[in-house]
Amino acid sequence: MTKTVAALVWFAGLVGWYIIRHPFKRKAKKIGVRKSLFDWRERSLLGIGLLGLFVVPAIYVLTGFPASLDRPFVPAIAWLGMVPLGGALWLFRRSHVDLGRNWSITLQVREQHVLVKTGVYRLIRHPMYTSFFLLGFAQMLLLPNWLAGLSGVAGAGILFAFRVLREERMMWESFGEEYRVYMTQTKRIVPWIV
Ligand code: SAH
Repeated sequence: MTKTVAALVWFAGLVGWYIIRHPFKRKAKKIGVRKSLFDWRERSLLGIGLLGLFVVPAIYVLTGFPASLDRPFVPAIAWLGMVPLGGALWLFRRSHVDLGRNWSITLQVREQHVLVKTGVYRLIRHPMYTSFFLLGFAQMLLLPNWLAGLSGVAGAGILFAFRVLREERMMWESFGEEYRVYMTQTKRIVPWIV
């Protein structure tokens, strides 16, 4: 494993990410929306996620900026990065499949929205956010730079921290007691723990 190969692995992960999401995005366009909280706050949070998980590391990979924050490249650490990367892609796909027509990129309740409690949603309420964190960990291990390495986890963390309560409130308002009970049966991002 060399620095360039590690960067290519990171990039391949993003391509995989895009390929997984694309068909769901296309299908989602055809389904009506009953309630939407897509405002400036949501846009900024999505922007911050994109900045941390894509823009900052892409600039690093393409230009080497900021070289002053480079850390030594350790092949074994980069190899290890493939574990969370594989996990992130698997979970990202699984959660899209499980949510099916209820998925939205932002906070929306669709027409005939059903509360999904099966598949990965049986264990955690926010597997897609878990996959963002896993992608961030992969980035940290694959890219030997403190800024480009840590920006993914930071971006995912900000998106999660400022979105999760709002999302859960929206779901609670839409599904009432059913969501309240579901909350008592599941954790947010790590099964049985958090
Ligand atoms: N937070 C979830 C989903 C992210 S996608 C995750 O991390 O996996 C965001 C949309 O998914 C929200 O607009 C919400 O309407 C929908 N959603 C979230 N949890 C859901 C569930 N358990 N069942 C059905 N829809 C859900």
